Amino acid sequence: MPLQEIQEFLQQQQIPFEMEVPLSRYCTFRIGGPAALLARPKNAEQAVKVFSMVRQQGIALEIIGKGSNLLVSDQGFPGVILWAMGLDEMQLLDNARIRCGAGVSLANLCKMALEHALSGLEFAYGIPGSVGGAVFMNAGAYGGEICNCLESCTFFNSETGELQTLSGKDLEFSYRHSRFSRTGELILEVVFRLEKDDKQVIQNRMEEYIFKRTEKQPLEYPSAGSTFKRPAGAYAAALIEECGLKGLRVGGAQVSMKHSGFLINTGGATCKDVEELIQQVQEKVMAQTGFQLECEVRRIGSR
Ligand SMILES: Cc1cc2nc3c(=O)[nH]c(=O)nc-3n(C[C@H](O)[C@H](O)[C@H](O)COP(=O)(O)OP(=O)(O)OC[C@H]3O[C@@H](n4cnc5c(N)ncnc54)[C@H](O)[C@@H]3O)c2cc1C
Repeated sequence: MPLQEIQEFLQQQQIPFEMEVPLSRYCTFRIGGPAALLARPKNAEQAVKVFSMVRQQGIALEIIGKGSNLLVSDQGFPGVILWAMGLDEMQLLDNARIRCGAGVSLANLCKMALEHALSGLEFAYGIPGSVGGAVFMNAGAYGGEICNCLESCTFFNSETGELQTLSGKDLEFSYRHSRFSRTGELILEVVFRLEKDDKQVIQNRMEEYIFKRTEKQPLEYPSAGSTFKRPAGAYAAALIEECGLKGLRVGGAQVSMKHSGFLINTGGATCKDVEELIQQVQEKVMAQTGFQLECEVRRIGSR
C-alpha cells in the first residue's frame, strides 16, 4: 500500500507527520474533513524529499501554507498534505533585501521589513497568509501586489527534478495568478527587494491598512477572505450587494453583512453549505448583472 510506504519513508527520514488529521484545523475557514496524511517538513530539504517521494508514488498531493485561501471538502483529502509552514527561516541579505522561506508568515516578514526600515510590503500586513501562499496567489491589497517587490523565487521544478531560481518577471504573475497556479510546483524560498524609508512612515501605513481591514472585513468570523476574484470592470462585493445577496445563508455559511465579498462560517458550516452558497451567488449575479464571478478560494478534495 503506497501510503504505508510514505509513512515508513517519513519515519526513516525523521520528518514529522500525522495520519487522519482534520483539515479544519489547518485552514482559516475552519471547514473540512481529514487528510489521510499530513507531513510537516522542518526545512526545504525535507520538503523536497516529501514532495518528490509522494509524486514518485503517484499519490495525490496538496501543498498548504496558512490555509487562508482554502475551501476543504467535507470528505477531506485522501492523499498527502504537505504543510509548508516549517520553512520559516528569514534573513536580511543586505540593506534592501530579505530572504525568507515559503513558510514565513506575511505578518512576520512585514515586521522584519519594518525593523530594518524597509518599505514595499506594507500592503501585505494583515493578509493572513504565508510567503509561499502569497507568491502562489500573487496576493495583493491596497494597490500593492507581491510580484512588485519579489526579486527571485526558488522552487522545486517537478519536470527537471531540480531546484530552480527564477526572477519575478519570469514567474507569469498576473492578477491572483503565478506560474505556480499552473504547475503546482513546491515554492521553497523567496528574496524580496525593498526600499529604505522612514520607519515611522512605514509603521503608520501598516497600521492604517490594519485599521481599514478591521473596519471593513468580518474578521470576527472564520472565512477564506474574498471568495471571488475581481471581475474585469467591476467589484465582486459591489455586484453581490447590488443583487441584494448580503446576508444570504445556506446552513452555517453566509454572505457577510459587513463585506459582501466574504462568505463566512457563522458556526458549523460545511463545505457543502459554502459550495451551495457560492453557486447561488454566482447564478444570481450572472442573471442580474451578466458578470461571471470566478472563485478566488482554492479547493482541496472532491466536491
Ligand atoms: C481575513 C482574510 C483576509 C484576506 N485578505 C487578502 C487580501 O487582502 N489579499 C489577498 O490577496 N488575499 C487575501 N486573503 C487570502 C489569503 O490570505 C491569501 O491568498 C494568502 O496569500 C494565502 O496564503 P496561505 O499561506 O494561507 O496559502 P494557502 O491558503 O495555504 O494556499 C493557497 C494556495 O497556495 C498554494 N501554496 C501555499 N504554499 C505553497 C508553497 N510553499 N508552494 C507551492 N504552493 C503553495 C496552495 O497549494 C494553495 O493552492 C485573505 C484571507 C483572509 C482569511
